[in-house]
Order: sequence, then structure tokens, then C-alpha cells
Amino acid sequence: MSESILDQRWPWLLAAAGIVVAFLLYASIELDPSQGPADPRQVGSIDDLDQLRDRDDLNILFILIDTLRSDHLSSYGYERETSPFLDELASTGLRFDRHLAQSSWTKSSMASMWTSLNPWRAGITRFDHILPEEVILPAEILRDAGFRTIGLFRNGWVAQTFGFEQGFEVYNRPPALRQKPEVIAKKPTIYKGGTDEDVTASAIEFLRVHSGGRWFLYLHLMDVHEYLYDEESALFGSEYVDVYDNSIRWTDKTVQILIEHLIDKGYADNTIIVITSDHGEAFSERGFEGHGRQVFKETTEVPFIITLPYRLAEGVVIPTRSRNIDIWPTLFDILGIETDRPSDGRSLVPDIVAAARGEELPEADRTALAHLDQGWGQRSTDEQITISVADGNYRYVRTPIDQELMEMLFDASEDPRELRNLSETDAETLGRLRSIADAKLGEDEAYGEMPTREISEMELNQLRAIGYDVGG
Ligand SMILES: [Zn+2]
Repeated sequence: MSESILDQRWPWLLAAAGIVVAFLLYASIELDPSQGPADPRQVGSIDDLDQLRDRDDLNILFILIDTLRSDHLSSYGYERETSPFLDELASTGLRFDRHLAQSSWTKSSMASMWTSLNPWRAGITRFDHILPEEVILPAEILRDAGFRTIGLFRNGWVAQTFGFEQGFEVYNRPPALRQKPEVIAKKPTIYKGGTDEDVTASAIEFLRVHSGGRWFLYLHLMDVHEYLYDEESALFGSEYVDVYDNSIRWTDKTVQILIEHLIDKGYADNTIIVITSDHGEAFSERGFEGHGRQVFKETTEVPFIITLPYRLAEGVVIPTRSRNIDIWPTLFDILGIETDRPSDGRSLVPDIVAAARGEELPEADRTALAHLDQGWGQRSTDEQITISVADGNYRYVRTPIDQELMEMLFDASEDPRELRNLSETDAETLGRLRSIADAKLGEDEAYGEMPTREISEMELNQLRAIGYDVGG
């Protein structure tokens, strides 16, 4: 049923007339976001969720905001107004309040999210691991269900090089557009590397020319990862953490402009929008900065927001632990798509319904694990596994620090920033969560051991350019 890629107008246009199209698009995304169209969706209730399974016209807009920790969004309790538009989405949709990524490094975390497997089960734990063909990814399932599948990304860890293109009809890194002088002045290096406007401009172009048929559009945004923002978003100062917050504010606006185009093109009442992230970012809470080294709270707690093709009069907040491995089981459940692949995740639909109705939540495994091989970036290093188990208010973390394996236990109910280690005082909880970690780590890879491939110096340099110490 699907036409060939050359019959599709938009990627062809991009390839053949990239510069002209890019320039026109650059002009077109200069719209003032405050002038955007009103939300045309009908008001519905959680009881209407069931009916979505019978619809054959629903699209998915999947927005991955790389390096976005949830506690820096206003709707997740942050005192700064970093995310007015994302908060608005949450206020008429579903917001998962205690959501956890399964790693703190992009490739491992994304492999885990797409496969719905914990990282050691997905098997993508090293810089040169690649997803082989036998792995079944959501884009393949959606393509087979009749969706057009388009992936646009700016992070090299999810490039074709590593097998992440499987199931996508179009999968590319959009070319960098001309940038505003004030943005270049703020960060002279961005002109070469581009910004997320490159991704949203390509997405807007797709929405403009696409006619007929449902679609799955995956956008992987990087401006928060790169601490990029414009003058207007520079609201919070110039310290490291302030700049991070400025970039969230800027990304919030980027997303708003995209979604206003989506509304404008008439997609509001047949599109499910997903906002999430692959990991957070540390600001020396306990001596670590950045991500990809540890799996404490600050690098693993991320947002997860869904808006439905109708508006909820009041947004639903799901209060329990949820995980990136649950995202696709949940979306497939909402869409009524049956899947048959290995999975460590589960559908959160029963939790959504119970939370909306104020009912008791159903019985389920509510532990959320995060995992990282700290030797992921080096050829010669042995495994150095750090793992965390979150269960209710507790979090157990086991991590190698200065050649020693440290165990820590935190209770967020009394210590929201999780800085007080209770490992000496609560041996019972420590033991319980340690056993969960050990039992889970004993599980085998779902698809066998992942193959590796030689990554060229050029590819490695591209990854080094976004801040990773890799390939040594
Ligand atoms: Zn990332």
C-alpha cells in the first residue's frame, strides 16, 4: 500500500531544493507563538479513552527532548516558569508525575525505550553496540499497521549507524538552517551544528505537504542538551543551571510553534502527542555534573506527558512510578494495536483510568530500574555497572565510586533531593531493593548479545563534539 519514498513530496523537496525550502521555512517559523490558533479539540473524559482503539485515523507526534529532567518543569513543581506551553499540554492531558528513564546515556536509554526492555535485557550498553535486524521497534510495528513513519533527529547516538532507523520510511538529520544573528552571538558554534528549529521546520514541512493516511512522527530535540536558547528565553541568569533553564524555556517555545502548526493543519483532533526524555542532567548535587555517568534521581527522572485527540476538562496526574519501557505498551494499548515482542514494560492505561476516577490503583510491578555500564565509552574497559531501583518513595543506588562499590538508600518522602544516605539505618529496605536489583540483573538479554561495529573516527568525532568522551 505504501508508495515509494520518491513519490512522497516532502523529503524529495528537502533533498532537491534544500536551501530554498530551508530559507522559506525559516521565515515561516518566525510566527509569534502568542498569536497561535485556539485549541479546537472537543472536551472528553477518561471514559472516552476506550473508543480510540476503534479509530483508524490517529497519528502520533513523539517529541523526545534530550536531557530534560522533570523537576525543572513548572508542571513538575519547579519554582521557575520554564515550561508554560508543556504545562498547558499537561493541563488538558495526562502527566506521569514520577517517571523514570532506564539509563542516563542516550543510546542505552533510547534502545531501552524503543524495545520496552531494561538496558541489560535490550543489550545496548556500549558505544559500539548496534541494534540488529531481529529487534522489533515501534516504527516497524506502526509501519506494518499502516502508518507513514518519519524520524528526525539531531543526536548521533540514535543515527542509522546504530540501527535506530528500522521501520522508518524517512529517517534523517535535517540540514542546519540559517540562524538569527542574536542566536549565533549567544553561541557561535551553533551555526554549523544547527538547532532544533531544523527539526521542527522539517516536521512543519511534512505536515504542510502530507495528504492522507496516518503517520508517526518522531522528533529528537537537542537544544536542551546543548544549552541553547535565544535572547527572549534568557530569563533565568547565566550560571550553568540558569542556562539550562533558559534552554528549556526556548525549547518550550519551539514545541509550541510546531504544535500550533499542527493545529493549524487540522491535526489536533486526530493526533496523540507524547513528550518525554531519555535522561536528565546533574548539577553537582553530589559532586557529579552532566549525564551518562550515574543513575541517581537527577539524571533519570524525566517528564512523560500525553495529550489525547480530545481535551480533558482537567488534566490527569498519574502519581505512581512509571518508566520509559512502559511508554510503548501504553501507546499500543491506547491505539488498540496488538504486539507480540519481548517486553519488560506494561500498559499504564489501568493506572490512567484509576487516577482519573480517583480509584485505587491496580496491582502491578511499580519498581523502576535504571542502569549504566560506566565503561560504555571505552574499548578496553571492563563492565562497571551502576544500577538504581526506585520503589515508592525509596531509591536504592549501587555505584562504583573511587574503585569502591558504594550502596546508598534514599527516602524522598523526608528528603526530596535524595542527599541523605540511609544505607546504615534501614538495612531491611536496603536488602529488599538490593535483591530486586540482583534478581533483575540476572535476567538474560531478550535478543541475545548485541553485535558491535567499527565506528569511524568521523562518527566518533561527531559524538565527541556533543560532549562525549568516547572510543578511547
Ligand atoms: Zn541524551
